[in-house]
Amino acid sequence: MAKVVVIGGGLSGLAAARAVLDEARSRGVAVQVSLLERDAVLGGKIRTSREDGFVCEEGPNGFLDNKPATLALVERLEARPRLLKSEDGARRRYVFTGGALKPLPEDPMSFVLSDILSIRGKLRLAAEMFLPQGTAGVDESVAQFVRRRLGDEALDKLIDPMSAGIYAGDPAVMSLASCFPKVTMLEQQFGGLLKGMLAMQKMAKAAGREGPQSAGPGGVLWSMRSGTAELIDLLAASLPEGTVQAGTAAEELERFGASWRVRTADGRDLDADAVALATPAYDAARLLRGRDERLGELLYAVPYVPAAVVCVGYVAEQLTRPLDGFGFLIPRSEGRRILGSLWSSSIFANRAPSGRVLLTQIVGGARNPELVDLDDGELLQLVRDELSWTLGIRAEPCYTKVVRWARAIPQYVVGHGQRLAEIQQRVGRLGGLFLGGNAYHGISINDCTHHAPILAGQVLDGLQGATQ
Ligand SMILES: Cc1cc2nc3c(=O)[nH]c(=O)nc-3n(C[C@H](O)[C@H](O)[C@H](O)COP(=O)(O)OP(=O)(O)OC[C@H]3O[C@@H](n4cnc5c(N)ncnc54)[C@H](O)[C@@H]3O)c2cc1C
Repeated sequence: MAKVVVIGGGLSGLAAARAVLDEARSRGVAVQVSLLERDAVLGGKIRTSREDGFVCEEGPNGFLDNKPATLALVERLEARPRLLKSEDGARRRYVFTGGALKPLPEDPMSFVLSDILSIRGKLRLAAEMFLPQGTAGVDESVAQFVRRRLGDEALDKLIDPMSAGIYAGDPAVMSLASCFPKVTMLEQQFGGLLKGMLAMQKMAKAAGREGPQSAGPGGVLWSMRSGTAELIDLLAASLPEGTVQAGTAAEELERFGASWRVRTADGRDLDADAVALATPAYDAARLLRGRDERLGELLYAVPYVPAAVVCVGYVAEQLTRPLDGFGFLIPRSEGRRILGSLWSSSIFANRAPSGRVLLTQIVGGARNPELVDLDDGELLQLVRDELSWTLGIRAEPCYTKVVRWARAIPQYVVGHGQRLAEIQQRVGRLGGLFLGGNAYHGISINDCTHHAPILAGQVLDGLQGATQ
């Protein structure tokens, strides 16, 4: 029986373990999978804490249905009844600009009427339709692209907050092709963003699919009834007993004949015909630098930004403004110290007890990494000050939770694609070793679940190739 060791028990590793078993079954290959997770608790960045009826997501809040992979995984886990769709009212999203909350336009007409952009800014954005196509194959930053095609104001008021909302990143260094590949595709295939979106809308209509086409994230947010960590619990429970070894770090990877030997921190050796590494890139670097120094350097060079998550609960009637939407993001130019605020209990009503509301703020990211070093009390005060400024909330919170991630989210900066190509080439040369995780092909939950079966296919191809 072939042995596969998966290193990393976050979503990517767990989904990969499950996908390897599924793929092996469908190919009729006998495989034993062992999954090593350094922490005592599985899930990596996915953690849900529950206290006094408040459900605080310490990492992701959910996943969008614009990509099918996570919903499909939940189906495979036979857990459809555990899914939770966000409230309809949460479709409204705000941006805090000019010192006030303004709803983001949801269609062309509301865009024309919206006062987020000045008339000049709107005309500049609309002029995108008539701009010549840029040169293909240039790894532009998000900011360069947006300035070139949509103008400075769209960058400041729309794209900068969106980049912070998804990547906690800085558009000046983020690679457009790696972070928003669909946007690159729209320009290259249709000559421009607006032309591309119109063409896709037309195609969707012809295929009987209605709804506006979005170059951004788009879609409706979903989660699990008990929080995103339920997805982790379901995945772990779906694996055969003995597969998962939590509290067990992989310390060293050694070549052992045609296979691998994984040494654990507690001094055990696991032999493996294939190893799937689903750790953050810097941990993969540590494990692989002894095999290929350059590979270690490349992996270590994937930058990460820190973030603090601050959940606060209030008695609903103490708030003067209704939390009538998803929440808001803030452009850097506003000089605020939170990236935005998610109105968690407006998105999923069961995230706060009756008569209470829950708001989740992200602090730090590429914009203010130093703020993550503040102590809990300081972070809480900072968030309270910012909520007072933006939402007029002066009440005492009845629930608080502060969580810090020193390396929260990998950044796909300009050059990411080239770095990735070199990483893949070098990993390919090692043989029987495969890379997964959110540092390479996408940072969302959907990206992790989409990539897991691809990784599993590579593992199985490798195993079958080795026996032929
Ligand atoms: C604050 C925050 C908010 C987010 N919000 C969203 C959102 O709303 N929607 C969305 O789609 N995505 C969101 N994301 C992104 C998403 O959560 C992550 O991309 C995803 O969870 C990453 O999963 P992963 O398994 O690839 O990596 P990780 O979760 O980092 O897991 C890697 C695991 O590897 C383990 N490990 C490392 N080294 C070793 C070793 N040597 N031996 C054994 N184990 C090891 C680690 O302990 C860890 O558990 C958010 C992320 C953060 C931080």
